[in-house]
Amino acid sequence: MTTQANPTDTFTTKSGKVLTFTFFAHSTMAIDFDGRRIYTDPVAGFLGDPAALPKADAMLIGHHHYDHFEAEAVEALRGADCRILCDVTTASMLPEGWAVALHPGDSDSVVGAEVVTLPAYNTSEGHTDFHPQSRGDIGFVVDFDGVRVYIAGDGEPTDEMMALRDIDIAFLPVNQPYTMTEQQASAVLHAIRPRVFYPYHYGQVDHRTDLALLSRLVSDIEGLEVRIRPME
Ligand code: ZN
Ligand code: ZN
Repeated sequence: MTTQANPTDTFTTKSGKVLTFTFFAHSTMAIDFDGRRIYTDPVAGFLGDPAALPKADAMLIGHHHYDHFEAEAVEALRGADCRILCDVTTASMLPEGWAVALHPGDSDSVVGAEVVTLPAYNTSEGHTDFHPQSRGDIGFVVDFDGVRVYIAGDGEPTDEMMALRDIDIAFLPVNQPYTMTEQQASAVLHAIRPRVFYPYHYGQVDHRTDLALLSRLVSDIEGLEVRIRPME
């Protein structure tokens, strides 16, 4: 547990609504939008003491792996009327009625933001068992009053991902062997061209992600800002 405040970044939508990201670790974040709080991938080891944090109005959980989902953390954070959007496997691990199970391609909404899910899976030979397409793991595109945020979840570049456009802020996982290489993340960014890129899920493995290389690989993308936050 850290005693330092977790870093935050704030954006303002065209109509003046405030969108703030709080970075815990790996893929665990809080997103405050217009006074309401979403958590992504709630894991107590990254959150510190979940019971001491503001309660969730919503949660987004893309798959059930231990570094993304803990039922105890969900229980500790869950506020009254909390809306939990997640993949079908995670939903099956929570008490009946707690979560909305979404398939890749489904649409929904949380705290006044439109949500569309994308499939998240591995595509390289020898890696497909980590996140098989057939399991239905998901990533999220969330439209916060016109600020479109892509939270990719675990996996590698897919056709669906490469076809995304009009993304303002992108979170892509970069670690080996479970998610993307630096080169794969660069290829995705060259295709979707967000304004801001946050590498996330870049640690928790022996192979160290080369963030300097990653920044160099995308340095030719006009208007792209790479923001490194403590999301190891
Ligand atoms: Zn995973
Ligand atoms: Zn993971």
